[in-house]
Amino acid sequence: MNQPNAEYDVVILGGGSGGYACALRAAQLGLSVAMVEKDKIGGTCLHRGCIPTKALLHAGEIADQARESEQFGIRATLDGVDMAGVNSYKDGVVGRLYKGLTGLISAAKITTVEGAGRLVGPTTVEVDGQRITGKHLVLATGSYSKTLPGLDFDGERVIDSEAALTLDRVPESAIVLGGGVIGVEFASAWKSFGTDVTIIEALPRLVAAEDEDCSKQVERAFRKRKINFLVDKPFEKLEKTDTGVRVAVAGGETVEAELLLVAVGRGPTTQGLGYEEQGLNLDRGFVLTDERLRTNLPNVYAVGDIVPGMQLAHRGFQQGIFAAEDIAGLNPAVIDENGIPRVTYCDPEVASMGLTEAKAKEQYGADKVTVYNYNLGGNGKSQILRTQGFVKLVGVVDGPVVGIHMVGSRVGELIAEAQLIYNWEAYPSDVARLVHMHPTQSEALGEAHLALAGKPLHAHA
Ligand SMILES: Cc1cc2nc3c(=O)[nH]c(=O)nc-3n(C[C@H](O)[C@H](O)[C@H](O)COP(=O)(O)OP(=O)(O)OC[C@H]3O[C@@H](n4cnc5c(N)ncnc54)[C@H](O)[C@@H]3O)c2cc1C
Repeated sequence: MNQPNAEYDVVILGGGSGGYACALRAAQLGLSVAMVEKDKIGGTCLHRGCIPTKALLHAGEIADQARESEQFGIRATLDGVDMAGVNSYKDGVVGRLYKGLTGLISAAKITTVEGAGRLVGPTTVEVDGQRITGKHLVLATGSYSKTLPGLDFDGERVIDSEAALTLDRVPESAIVLGGGVIGVEFASAWKSFGTDVTIIEALPRLVAAEDEDCSKQVERAFRKRKINFLVDKPFEKLEKTDTGVRVAVAGGETVEAELLLVAVGRGPTTQGLGYEEQGLNLDRGFVLTDERLRTNLPNVYAVGDIVPGMQLAHRGFQQGIFAAEDIAGLNPAVIDENGIPRVTYCDPEVASMGLTEAKAKEQYGADKVTVYNYNLGGNGKSQILRTQGFVKLVGVVDGPVVGIHMVGSRVGELIAEAQLIYNWEAYPSDVARLVHMHPTQSEALGEAHLALAGKPLHAHA
């Protein structure tokens, strides 16, 4: 640990996606930076979120490929899943990225302060009795797994996503409470490893924040994969049994399994940190900011999961960069929250940009919205991969594309083009004249735009 000086241009509380991105950008801009982190720099995303979950999903994909190899004329058998081996692969990925990140932070001459920080003045943080003051303060304390009344984590039979990532065995059976992003990703990975999974969701559909067609397609695929799910079934009661857990849902149905993963969302880590005492405006624990991420306290910014909105790592990165640039007086352009890409990495993947069909109709009026759904059945590369799904475009009549929604294996990688289309406010005709490599799944994006521009190629009008 470096010894902190008393005063810095920027003090950052929390070294996760939002905090460390802010630190790196601020240092690049010549500002002196101290970053306080009580655990490991990299935060949830690197150590307990994005990266380890995607490693598990990838290991699961390999298991599925071995099981399904015969479909491709390849004789392979799956002998089993060695969880110790999977965990060591996953931890290796995290470890390498962590090493790289700490190298970047120290090369940027950012002062890192290890320990739990607490706000003790408008821009002063206290860590183990030591006070660090910033001309500016950036709050980036992240989030924690929420639970429901009557559901206490015990680390064994009732677990959160963090404990789920360190399981040393493949559970025989599991209940996943919550059919949102984190819930469906774990359900998908566990099913690939051989677990009998049941998802319980209170809302009427899985991945309910997505376009309704995406939910339908994921549900269809999950049925095919024999991932059980109950929707519209709020949790009622948990009982521990001799062998695991029994969960009762509204309507009286019960489900039993070896363990229960609670994935009902994440709350902001803002309690007991001196935020309220300093007069910071909070709403249900979230830190309120204006569009420039400024809180009600002078020179205090907030970024990442503590700010209401989508809890995504790349949103945190972007907000961290924004705060650093705003502090440095660069007057950066306000971040468009609708322009932030979203991917759910279950099998099949879901990737989306902008407005759902329903939201676009609300915003523009139903008669001003035009929709085209291109089925991956017509896409050569998707046929080769044997994946099913679609690319759905939501456009404004005689206007730009305002929503792109995709389901299918590997469609997460198509989000790069989709975000340019959305953020550059492209018209279908703008994209229709661009040439897409054949055979790729990106052609499906091209074909959907051709069709929406009125000149479908491998599709019916
Ligand atoms: C299972 C899971 C999977 C996910 N997958 C994805 C994904 O695929 N893609 C994606 O974009 N997002 C994903 N996310 C979300 C992503 O991890 C978060 O949006 C992101 O980490 C938020 O960054 P942050 O900086 O706001 O908070 P965090 O990353 O949570 O960082 C906050 C940091 O602050 C530190 N801290 C807190 N209080 C104090 C204190 N008092 N003093 C000092 N330090 C403190 C914490 O130790 C932590 O390191 C996933 C999350 C989970 C849980």
